[in-house]
Amino acid sequence: MDMAQEIRQRLTVREVVEFYGFQVNRSGFMKCPWHSGDHTASLKLYDGQGGFHCFACGAHGSVIDFVMRLFDLNFRQAILRINADFRLGLTESKPDRAAQSATLEARRKEQRKNAQAEANFRFMIREFQYWKEIRNTFQPIRQGDVVFYHPLYVEAVKRLPYIEYWLDDFVEKGGKEHWGTCPFTQETTTSQQRNLLNTCMPTKIISSS
Ligand SMILES: [Zn+2]
Repeated sequence: MDMAQEIRQRLTVREVVEFYGFQVNRSGFMKCPWHSGDHTASLKLYDGQGGFHCFACGAHGSVIDFVMRLFDLNFRQAILRINADFRLGLTESKPDRAAQSATLEARRKEQRKNAQAEANFRFMIREFQYWKEIRNTFQPIRQGDVVFYHPLYVEAVKRLPYIEYWLDDFVEKGGKEHWGTCPFTQETTTSQQRNLLNTCMPTKIISSS
């Protein structure tokens, strides 16, 4: 509800004219302030949202119109004056400029977060494919009783469960929990991967059965 509507609902024109010092007779008439020599009191005040009407000069309107005419104010000024004079404590429903820009900034922040979450997701998908490929390529080699584990295979087996968990969780929660929580940054992981690839030639015995 806007302020004007609220004022019309909360104040009768009679309450307002009496507040500003006019005398109202028992029939609900007062002397009209807008035409001179109104000895008979021609201005009728109506209950509820009925407003006022002068049977002599035709002045007519709502409680807000009365204040506009009385103090020579525009609509907005009249509303603000009534709000202040009657201590109604109404606030304008239209958000001010500061609130609007705060909303806009919050929306941009949300968009940046979503973009970050999506980038993390794409990165983790690539990680998943990369380490799965590594795991399949560098399978352990069994020679008699001895099993040879390639360091890249070991790394893949270490990383994959967490990556899978991260992706499942992301899909389940729509990414909300994963803003900026990508476990590896792109730079460090690619350099780690490069180092691993550089040292991948000799196979190493990690354990034997
Ligand atoms: Zn009049």
